[in-house]
Amino acid sequence: MIPKFDILNNKSPFSLLRSESLLLFEMFSSIHNNILTGLFACLFFVFGSNAVADKTGQRMELVQTEPEYVRNDNYHEKWFRVLREGINVTRNYLGNYGPLCVYIIGEEEDELQSDDIAKKIITAYCRNRHGEKFDRVSDCLKHNGASLIKRARDGSTEAYLSYVDFLEKPLAELVFINPHGFPMPYLHTRGIHEYVHVFQRAFARTPTWLTEGGAEFLAFYLGDKHDWIDFEESMKDSMRMAQKVKKGEATLIDFEDVEKIENERPHLKKYYRHLAYDAGAWAVAFIIYRSEGRSVKNFTMEFYPKLDEKGWRSAVCQYGGFEDVDVFYKEFTDLLGEPLEKKMELIREIKP
Ligand SMILES: [Zn+2]
Repeated sequence: MIPKFDILNNKSPFSLLRSESLLLFEMFSSIHNNILTGLFACLFFVFGSNAVADKTGQRMELVQTEPEYVRNDNYHEKWFRVLREGINVTRNYLGNYGPLCVYIIGEEEDELQSDDIAKKIITAYCRNRHGEKFDRVSDCLKHNGASLIKRARDGSTEAYLSYVDFLEKPLAELVFINPHGFPMPYLHTRGIHEYVHVFQRAFARTPTWLTEGGAEFLAFYLGDKHDWIDFEESMKDSMRMAQKVKKGEATLIDFEDVEKIENERPHLKKYYRHLAYDAGAWAVAFIIYRSEGRSVKNFTMEFYPKLDEKGWRSAVCQYGGFEDVDVFYKEFTDLLGEPLEKKMELIREIKP
């Protein structure tokens, strides 16, 4: 059985991070229940005002350097290994984008009680963000840096990409707090999902469903290639979630801009998981299915650069062979109405 996570709330408890162009914030609340079937998790999302970099100078780039890992060494190494494996698999597949810092901060017993250990982590975090700007570093130590440790000590479980664009060169931060709270084997796919967001940051903006759907689809796809999860089962599960949305209440189109939803139609936020992630993964599968060659690799290599030509609508239409974006949405809605077996046939047509 593949557990899924429902959105129960949409608080933004870290408003400080908002102003720093946090791409998205995917956080599981305290999960101390390790029994999968009894798992009860929340997702929280925070969106930056600058959800996707449009200026090419503010993009991630292919780099030679390895990601920098910062963690508390006394936290069990297996959590670090699993995350690094997921991230490395995705770097190999999509290319090595950066600069990237990965923070893995966790406490299963009392690993973070030592102030020295805490200080080491937040000093590295603030130095990476602010370099030699001492006033900024000192502010960071007191606020954003301290907040990381506080959340970890409080038992919060989080995974998110934070995109720091106030530096000369932007910096991607993947932050994992108490990753032992994520159920296995999904910790592998968290690493994949978050790294896909780093890659996406090298290209022009996409609507929320395409950003999350792309990360989710690739997490399923690459997760299956490495035997961590089952691609077809994960897609089936996503379809089940997508179909929980009450007819007529919301569709994929409503999740083009989740920031807008947050402001204008907050009652639809409850469908964020169902539409942006689950229907989004299917929408990406549909675009790949409709493309020449139906190849996932080709999607990552050819589709993303097209975003910079004339934007995402044109890229979707050109790549998937749709007359216009309305036709795409209409055909996708029609697909959702097909029996599951028919939809799964589409999935099975997708090529490496
Ligand atoms: Zn995501």
